[in-house]
Amino acid sequence: EAKQAYTKGKSTESALHLVVNSIEKSLNIKEYALIAFLDIEGAFNNVLPTAITESLTELGVEPPMVRLIHKLLISRMVTATLGTSTQTRLVNRGTPQGGVLSPLLWNIAVNKLLRILEGGGCKVVAYADDVAIIFNGKYPQTLCDLMTAKLKMLSEWTIANGLGVNPSKTELVLFTNRYKIPQLNPPILNNCNLSFSDHARYLELVLDKRLKWGLNNQERTKKATIALYSCKKAIGLRWGMSPRIVNWIYTAVVQPILLYGVALWWTALHKQCILTPLNKVQRMAALCISGALRTTPNEALNAILNLPSLDLAGMERAKSAAIRLRDTGQWKAQLYGHAKILQHDKSIPKITDLCKSIEYSHTPFEALIPDREEWEQGRPGTTDAICFYTDGSKLKGQVGGGVYSEQLDIRKSFRLPNHCSVFQAEVHAIKEALTCLGNLSLQRGHLNIYSDSQAAIKSIYSTNTNSRTIADCRRSLHEMANQFTISLIWVPGHRDIVGNCIADELARQGTTKPLLPGEESVGMPMATCKLNIKNHFNTLANTHWQNAPQCRISHQTWPVINNKKTSELLKLSRTECGMLIRALTGHWLVGAHAGRLKAPQNDFCRSCRDEEEVETVEHLLCFCPALCRFRLKHLGSPFIDDLTEISEINLKSISAFIKSSGWKTC
Ligand SMILES: [Zn+2]
Repeated sequence: EAKQAYTKGKSTESALHLVVNSIEKSLNIKEYALIAFLDIEGAFNNVLPTAITESLTELGVEPPMVRLIHKLLISRMVTATLGTSTQTRLVNRGTPQGGVLSPLLWNIAVNKLLRILEGGGCKVVAYADDVAIIFNGKYPQTLCDLMTAKLKMLSEWTIANGLGVNPSKTELVLFTNRYKIPQLNPPILNNCNLSFSDHARYLELVLDKRLKWGLNNQERTKKATIALYSCKKAIGLRWGMSPRIVNWIYTAVVQPILLYGVALWWTALHKQCILTPLNKVQRMAALCISGALRTTPNEALNAILNLPSLDLAGMERAKSAAIRLRDTGQWKAQLYGHAKILQHDKSIPKITDLCKSIEYSHTPFEALIPDREEWEQGRPGTTDAICFYTDGSKLKGQVGGGVYSEQLDIRKSFRLPNHCSVFQAEVHAIKEALTCLGNLSLQRGHLNIYSDSQAAIKSIYSTNTNSRTIADCRRSLHEMANQFTISLIWVPGHRDIVGNCIADELARQGTTKPLLPGEESVGMPMATCKLNIKNHFNTLANTHWQNAPQCRISHQTWPVINNKKTSELLKLSRTECGMLIRALTGHWLVGAHAGRLKAPQNDFCRSCRDEEEVETVEHLLCFCPALCRFRLKHLGSPFIDDLTEISEINLKSISAFIKSSGWKTC
């Protein structure tokens, strides 16, 4: 459990979750957590082959395989050429750089170390060569003494295996809320007294000793800003800086850096000192994307570009991450700290369809996808087999499935929860067919299961899955395969194949049946769950926008956040996009606003030259008589009642109108 890297489904997030959890546990009961963060030097380059082969033998790997791996590790020749001189050396340490087996071999070697260290109140979390040794307790001096003992064991193991730990690179933090800390004799590593730090960096996250996350925030914003400008420079030269590309840079590169590991520090998102710097980076990006004037309010810019404030974006990301960890069995829920995120949230399903990734070493059934011509020559598959037709269906938001077998006189309909997908119903129907068959206690034979979902058949046949529904279906297939020779066969839909039509009808009937207890547990697909969370936060962002003070003009021209309209805006050129945003927000060089920005100012309208008319956005877009003709041509009417009507007009037309008015340079 402690070893995280290069294991399928494990991430830095799950390693950090374990570390932060144990710190929060101590802070919550006003105790101490002493953690040493170590970096095993030259892990992959220097590890002795014997460390790996000994661990492999202990794991019960067969001797010929162990010898083969040993041979691979000790007999590599490396040749380097520089100019005219060539040197060849035998490499007999470390694991091959970039080898597919290398991470696994390192994991196996380091696993032994973890087993040596664990126990005696000590927790170890390792991700690749980054190791954290954790002690929790009431008496800091005792923790230091215990740490010294563990570090001695660690040091001995690393030396014996050709590795090292450098005391000067080891960070030691005593996590506590207390201000008065007694004088302590620090832990010792390789005869060096370690010194206490106020913070440590572990897997790119900065953990400060009170877990206030301020330093981490500084680091996040700094890295994100650098990334924003270097991406702009690198991509800009080649592709030009269209709004769409800068928007992509921000959402795909910069925001993930800003919000890295937010599942662990979301508790700090409500603090202005944390949130303001994050939103400042987003604002820089928003100005780059849109070419808006620097006075444009944040709220208006965020609403028009559909970039929710980072407290909302952060919570959305944190919840998805927590669900992913929970459903893959890596989450330890707590009533305090970051691990309380899923508590009391009714919008989050108790279980999703996501599960720990499973690999199948053998597949005891076949899958056939015959083409339509083959079906025209008669039903594919063994002729003397028991045949089942299965189908899934979703009607009026309700999901059901059907199973039909003529020979066995089985017609079954079942219902699944509304959050399920048709795909899940199709897979579940195949499982139901097997359950029906199992209840009949028949002798051995051939079994053909026909389904009109190629996606379902292919996913079931795949050698790995992280779907609970598929894993359940596979389990039934493996059981039944002891008795039957099973073929999953695709049947073309809508082809008047009788069995399939009956199964389809049964599935339709299934959608209106009541939900039975066993069927309630079929989890929501992770994609649906993520979408629900996204929608929830979009609604919050919209409410936030509607309640934002000021932004009088933007509220009228862009009343609700609209993803489709934003994408249209981003497709325009930077000049056009900037022009539109300036007009729609009222932050442009017109009338009084130009004066505020110390730009040349006109006291009266430059188009109609009516000395009574002040230059304003309303006047230009809606009323100016001099522009009637253009308004009629592009916006469909010579005059417009008020700015709210502008929100109904498509962006291209508004853009064409402003261009023709001659005000576009404002
Ligand atoms: Zn005018």
